[in-house]
Amino acid sequence: MNIIINNDFETHDLLGVGIGPFNLSLAALLSPVPSINSKFFDARDSFIWHAGQLLPDAEIQVTHLKDLVTLVDPTNPYSFLAYLRKHKRLYRFINGKFTNVLRKEFSQYFNWVSQSLPNLHFGEAVQDLHFKKSHFVMQTTKRIIKGKHLSLGSGLAANVPPCAKPHLGDTVYHVKDFLMKGNHWKGKTVAVIGGGQSGAEIVQALIADDKNLPAAVNWISSRDHFAPMDESVFANEIFTPNYSDFFYGLEPGTKAQLVKQQTLASDGISNNLLDAIYQRLYYLECIEQLPKIVNFLSNHQLDDIHANQGSHQLILTQHLGDATSVVNADIIILCTGYRWQFPAYLSGVSDKIVLENGHFAVNEDFSIEWDGPAQNKIYVQNAARHSHGVADPNLSLMAWRSATIINSIAGQDIYDLEGESSGMNWHALQSGVSGESKLVGPAYATLGSPVHNFAPSDTVVPFVAPTEVGASATWNT
Ligand SMILES: Cc1cc2nc3c(=O)[nH]c(=O)nc-3n(C[C@H](O)[C@H](O)[C@H](O)COP(=O)(O)OP(=O)(O)OC[C@H]3O[C@@H](n4cnc5c(N)ncnc54)[C@H](O)[C@@H]3O)c2cc1C
Repeated sequence: MNIIINNDFETHDLLGVGIGPFNLSLAALLSPVPSINSKFFDARDSFIWHAGQLLPDAEIQVTHLKDLVTLVDPTNPYSFLAYLRKHKRLYRFINGKFTNVLRKEFSQYFNWVSQSLPNLHFGEAVQDLHFKKSHFVMQTTKRIIKGKHLSLGSGLAANVPPCAKPHLGDTVYHVKDFLMKGNHWKGKTVAVIGGGQSGAEIVQALIADDKNLPAAVNWISSRDHFAPMDESVFANEIFTPNYSDFFYGLEPGTKAQLVKQQTLASDGISNNLLDAIYQRLYYLECIEQLPKIVNFLSNHQLDDIHANQGSHQLILTQHLGDATSVVNADIIILCTGYRWQFPAYLSGVSDKIVLENGHFAVNEDFSIEWDGPAQNKIYVQNAARHSHGVADPNLSLMAWRSATIINSIAGQDIYDLEGESSGMNWHALQSGVSGESKLVGPAYATLGSPVHNFAPSDTVVPFVAPTEVGASATWNT
């Protein structure tokens, strides 16, 4: 393999690791900013969005306006609407009255953007990074290149329960590989572990084809029911820049509590999908009069897996009664989400990077704390749920985060992000958190204190976070 060494050694302003939606958004919003030159690298040959889970019926869980660019710059040429217009199907799209856009279509849109930008390099894995005096040196599988700043957009890793690791293979696998494994479940018993969106999509796929039905599906979830995503208007306020600003100012313990509390706003199952599964089972059991196929095992935790004469035995704990139960399965599909892990390509600078409780210490502009010159920044995408809130792994704040990073690199407001209107009074609550005494509304009081009408001289006691609530989960467990 030929390694390109840039002998002229131009130092790029920004080098990006990974071209998932998040660094793609950054690249798209950088496209009209000639003062910042950048290059992005991805190990894959071309863009495809979570290929193993790109099921034909899967829909995006947000409005299509939460595309790569629109929420900060609707005039950018790489919006979803621009993609539809370019492909001469905007009228048909509108006439189609889609409630949600298919994930396949968003993947194609992302792919189109990835082919339109000249500074994206696919088929080129980043292997190593180190720092020399004033710049980072990046080694990919094809070149060595220098950059002033980095943007780490290499995504999350599959979360595999430790008890499943020794069994991984053709019949026990993480959902990220689902479509690569083929649909060989006819007449078999399948265990689906995880009661979030991914688990629900897999259950839907397993029961979709009358001619290829499994004998049984055990759908196992530690949650107490197969819960919908909270898409209500006030819950959606959590997915706004103003809320992210508010959240950033909270104490770490309060942040951790809120992330748990807000699980269903980000990790619940789409209502459409729950309806579709329910209606499909009604059809199979009541109209076709087939025996029950899906066995719903909520409140069950997977503890262990034993090999059992060519199939598998799952050992479960039932939360409600603490009882142990055993179910058998020919195939186990782990819909157990994704988690952040320290990227291997950072090993050359790992001794300089500050970790707090196993996470990056993330600044407000999405750069991380590190023991290097302040003028060289390492920005992180999809690694700040603990510091910036539950929207971090989600498409909702993607464009805003990219614009925040661009403003930080430029040292000026290339994108105007100030003064966004909000349905809630997050900024007023923020001043309460920081201990300032400020009038925030005629009937605002902390939890537990009697509501009263404020006279102008009244002080407002700081916002008190709601008390702890149960379950924890990652994006789609
Ligand atoms: C199935 C699924 C559906 C989702 N649907 C939604 C949704 O509808 N709405 C929503 O808001 N959120 C959704 N999400 C959450 C989130 O939007 C996506 O996971 C999104 O893809 C995250 O983008 P990313 O850029 O961080 O990472 P990824 O999409 O994972 O991309 C990371 C990229 O980095 C590359 N890479 C990794 N290491 C290297 C390296 N060393 N060198 C070079 N390249 C490297 C990988 O090849 C990959 O292309 C979904 C998540 C999943 C798993």
